[in-house]
Amino acid sequence: MEYDFTKRERDFGRIVFALTLDRKKMTERVIVGRNTEVSLRFERGIGEVYYDETRPLGSLLIGLEADPTRQWNVNAAILRDSCGKVFPFDAQRWMQSAPVADYLAQKYESGEPSAMFAAIRTWEEYLNFFNLNHGADLITERLAALYRPFVLYAENRPWQELAQDAMSAALRDTDTEVSLWYPAKKRPFEVVAAFSSLLPVIQYCLFKLDEWGFVFQQCKICGKDFVAKSRHCELCGDECRRVQAALNKREFDGRAKGDKLEQLHENAYNYWYNRLRKLKKGKTADPERVAAVGAAFKEYRKEAVKRKTSVKNGEMSFSDFATWLAEQQNAVDALMSETDPDPKVGLTSKSR
Ligand SMILES: [Zn+2]
Repeated sequence: MEYDFTKRERDFGRIVFALTLDRKKMTERVIVGRNTEVSLRFERGIGEVYYDETRPLGSLLIGLEADPTRQWNVNAAILRDSCGKVFPFDAQRWMQSAPVADYLAQKYESGEPSAMFAAIRTWEEYLNFFNLNHGADLITERLAALYRPFVLYAENRPWQELAQDAMSAALRDTDTEVSLWYPAKKRPFEVVAAFSSLLPVIQYCLFKLDEWGFVFQQCKICGKDFVAKSRHCELCGDECRRVQAALNKREFDGRAKGDKLEQLHENAYNYWYNRLRKLKKGKTADPERVAAVGAAFKEYRKEAVKRKTSVKNGEMSFSDFATWLAEQQNAVDALMSETDPDPKVGLTSKSR
């Protein structure tokens, strides 16, 4: 059901913000509507309401309307002037409040239940006080209480200590009327319903989450806040769990591949090193041959490190690198037999 922000007479019944928490399923259900319709919705699934959604536990606290620039209050000031009859004729007064109606309709469209509730309540209060003598004073007081949490949480998250201190202070001097309903006579099915301020509902939510030992966490994949059963849960949902699993696999594959690359590089190094050692220790060691193979080894080492880095950077394939290493090993073998007048030396080293 849509709320009409152009209407000039209010309907019967109070607008309520009703919340029920499900500890087992870790969900919360919010219904916004008129008192009697909301209880019908809870009891029998019927009743015309403005909002009825079941969301992950903590959604209300995490997504609560925040108003750092106090736009709600700026608009409330226009309604106060209209109620205070700054203009003498009703037509002028309605014209004065028309931009506010647009602002509220836009907030209502946002789909955030705390903003929807505040938008409807604002227009209903305006209609309440439109013809009252002290309407301007009364609407100012009512709306300030309604918007207080939005200002409070503009800078702090609701579960942070600073915000909670501010909220406790605000609760002391605000109308904190709230109703508890048990529509299904089942003990865990408890509904908390607020009329004039969301503060007690927020406090109720915080209290319940704390009682159940749940914690607020920030998802390490998407960065979103969410409510978790313990500090060990670091991912907000199935989607982020899938992303994390893929990342873990990629990291493992990358590590395994890196290990294989280092191993190959090391084996090739040892091959060269043993060749040169053999040559140096040979009975007929020839300084010229040693120098030639030694120089080739030095050249090889420089080039091998360069190519290994290329593989790591993805500029060269692993198999191309392996092929190159094999070619180099053939080259050093050829070099040794070329410079070796006694073929037995080359033979001995090759047979090893
Ligand atoms: Zn996430």
